[in-house]
Amino acid sequence: MSKERFEELRRQLDAVNQDILEVLNRRAELVQEIGQLKSGKGTERFDPIREKEMLDKLVASNEGPFPSDTIRHLFKQIFQASLGLQEEEKKSLLISRKNQSADTVVTFGNVSIGGNNQPLIISGPCSVETVDQMNAVGAHLQTEGIRLLRGGAYKPRTSPYDFQGLGVEGLKILSETAKKYGMTCVSEIVRPEDIEMSCEYLDVIQIGARNMQNFELLKEAGSVKKPILLKRGLSATIEELLYAAEYIASRGNSQIILCERGIRTYEKATRNTLDISAVPILKQESHLPVIVDIAHSTGRKDIMFPIAKAALAVGADGLIIETHNEPAVALSDAKQQLDLNQFSTLLKQLRESGYLKDTVE
Ligand code: PEP
Ligand code: MN
Repeated sequence: MSKERFEELRRQLDAVNQDILEVLNRRAELVQEIGQLKSGKGTERFDPIREKEMLDKLVASNEGPFPSDTIRHLFKQIFQASLGLQEEEKKSLLISRKNQSADTVVTFGNVSIGGNNQPLIISGPCSVETVDQMNAVGAHLQTEGIRLLRGGAYKPRTSPYDFQGLGVEGLKILSETAKKYGMTCVSEIVRPEDIEMSCEYLDVIQIGARNMQNFELLKEAGSVKKPILLKRGLSATIEELLYAAEYIASRGNSQIILCERGIRTYEKATRNTLDISAVPILKQESHLPVIVDIAHSTGRKDIMFPIAKAALAVGADGLIIETHNEPAVALSDAKQQLDLNQFSTLLKQLRESGYLKDTVE
């Protein structure tokens, strides 16, 4: 073969490569458009029947020199790559950084969390027990500049014989205490039908670990105009937590705070295992604020300071720290609630070590 002919064939091959590239990308654009049409309709992206039809048609019209098996193999690769394109686009959830690069700032009352705001300390007892208890805690937290008061009214307890919470009476006490001391309040709601009612009392609605995949509750939370504090499930992956948040966002409520609160592992030294890497990963994957519950993750008081520092060091936008005026007689989570002096000591340590601003806002 002459050198000229060889060069000519190579030029033709280059041109065909360009044509294939162009055609492949044209195909990819069509696939993307089909993917968009499928999205929101609950239609599965992978359609094996359609794939078989396309392959059969191609093999039937194949005149070679490629054998049919090779044609099948090549086109299967193309189909798989196309599916990958649709998956990529599927990953671009409302709560994803891919969808919004700027941090979401969640705002309620005079409080803002996320973005460049100072870390928010959320504190109060595990359960609302009495008016006196809430007054004692509220008055103390006010002196420390705490702006979001917590307290459970519907308690998801392991044993049905344990204190189950005061219900709506607890929400009322929490809400009145918060108002009295110039704070906002957050509490867990466990039933979808209580979400709307709770808006009257709460500034932030909490969805607890045990309910992270209660999809009806998530949908209802998405339909109200109150921020949602969504805690990671006991054995939920980071991806599952993000999809749970997407349930809320997809219903129109984008004011969501994610909370890492420890996951179940074989380790018994702590109540749960704090997954510290979840914080930077969640912040990377999503634009939502991320907080760490240092009470339920550790279940013990003696390591609160290092754990709080770790959480803030990896970028947490806030902390949950349970406090009680008399932890020893608390009706739930007695072992992990700090008494009011211990709480002040912890804050002082965090301020002195530069993890929190020293001024009371
Ligand atoms: C709580 O914060 O009151 C609580 C019950 O926590 P979790 O849902 O994370 O167990
Ligand atoms: Mn608790």
